[in-house]
Amino acid sequence: MISVSKALHVINSQALILREEEVSLNDALGAVLSKDVFSAINMPPFRQSAMDGYALKWSEERGYQLTYESQAGNANSYTLKNKEAVRIFTGALVPDEADTVVMQEHVEQTGKELSIQKMPSKYANIRETGEQIQAGDIALKKGAVLNAAAIGFLTCLGVQNVSVYRRPKVGILVTGNELQSVGSPLRTGSIYESNSTMLKAALHESGITEEIEILRVSDDLESTKACIKNLLEKTDLLLISGGISVGDYDFVKEALTANQVDELFYKVNQKPGKPLWFGRKGSTCVFALPGNPASVLTCFYVYVYPLIQKWKGYQNSSLERIFAKCTSKLQNKTGKTIFLKAALSQKGEATPLQGQSSAMMHTYALSNALICVPEEKESIEVGEEVECIKLTP
Ligand code: AMP
Ligand code: MG
Repeated sequence: MISVSKALHVINSQALILREEEVSLNDALGAVLSKDVFSAINMPPFRQSAMDGYALKWSEERGYQLTYESQAGNANSYTLKNKEAVRIFTGALVPDEADTVVMQEHVEQTGKELSIQKMPSKYANIRETGEQIQAGDIALKKGAVLNAAAIGFLTCLGVQNVSVYRRPKVGILVTGNELQSVGSPLRTGSIYESNSTMLKAALHESGITEEIEILRVSDDLESTKACIKNLLEKTDLLLISGGISVGDYDFVKEALTANQVDELFYKVNQKPGKPLWFGRKGSTCVFALPGNPASVLTCFYVYVYPLIQKWKGYQNSSLERIFAKCTSKLQNKTGKTIFLKAALSQKGEATPLQGQSSAMMHTYALSNALICVPEEKESIEVGEEVECIKLTP
C-alpha cells in the first residue's frame, strides 16, 4: 500500500508520448497549442472607427461640412479635404486623410453643417491598422490553452484549424454480473450500471468527447482477459471499473497480469478507493478503479484527470486545490487520507455533507468539492483550514 502523494508522484512521473493533431477551432475548446500560431493578416486589417460619429482632419476649427458616409462593411474610401467630415460608424473604414473621429454625441448637425461641440484630442477614436497584431507576428504561442477568448481571437485572424496535443483515446471496461443497463425494470439482485455513463461524463468534463470505447464484461477471468487485450491495443488510457478488490469474483488484477500490464501500484492508503490499481503496458496507462461509484469518481478526479490533462499538454494538470474553513469538526482515526464530498461556499467555507459512503452518489451530486484530510491528521476543528479540491470552475 502506498500513500496518496506517492501514488500521485508515480502517475505524474509517467513519460507520455504527446501526439499532435490538427483540429478545427470549432472542436478545440480546452486543447493546448502544439505549435506557435502566426497571424496572416493585420488586425485591424484597415483603419477603423472606434465610434459612431464623424471622421475629419483635426483642427482648431469647430465648423465642418458633411460630405460622405462610411458604413461598416463599405469598401469605398473617400478623399477628404480640409474642413470636410465623413459620417462614420463603429468598425467602418476611416478615410486616409482623416486623423480623428468625433463621437456623434459631441456634434450638432444641421443639414450638411456640422458644429463640433467638443473636439477630442487628435487621433482619438481610430483603431490603427495592425494595432492589435501585425501580419507575420505570433498570435499565440505553443502551450497556450484554447479558451473561448483564444478561439475568438484566432478566428478574428482568419485561422480555421490549429495543431494541438491530441487527447488520449480512452477505453472503459465495466465489470460486474450484477449490472443491468437502464431502460428496463431492475431484476432482483441487480443494479443499474452507472459507472460507464458517469465516467463518460467525467471524460467530457476533461475535454474528451470522442474516441471513448466502452465494453462490458461479466465476472469471468477469460472474458476479462480478452476484453482487456482488445482495449489495450486501441487506447492510450484504459479505465476499468470494479473487480479489483479481493473478492472471489474479482478477476481484473489477474487479467491485467496475464496481459503483461506492469503494475506500478496497487492499493492506496485512502478512503474511498483503497484498492486502486495503476499500471502500464507500452504507451497505454491503465487504471483499475474500485467499483463503488463514489470511489470511481474520486479516483477519477484525483488520479485520472491530471494524467489526461498532461496528455493534453497542460503544464499544471491537477484540479485546483484551495484552503477553506471547515464548518464542522472532523475525526480521522483511520490513518488514511480521506476525501470527503463537500459543499464549498463563495465565502470560502467547506461543509462536509452527510452520506460519505463510497456507494452513495446522492451526496456527490450535491457537492462541488472534495475535502482532503491527510493521513497523519487525526482531527480538524471547526474553523480550521482544510485543503479542498474544487470540482467545478
Ligand atoms: P466491485 O469493485 O466490483 O467489488 O464493486 C463494488 C461495488 O460497486 C458493488 O456494490 C458493485 O455492485 C458496485 N458497482 C460496480 N460496478 C458498478 C457500475 N458499473 N455501476 C454501478 N455500480 C457498480
Ligand atoms: Mg464486481
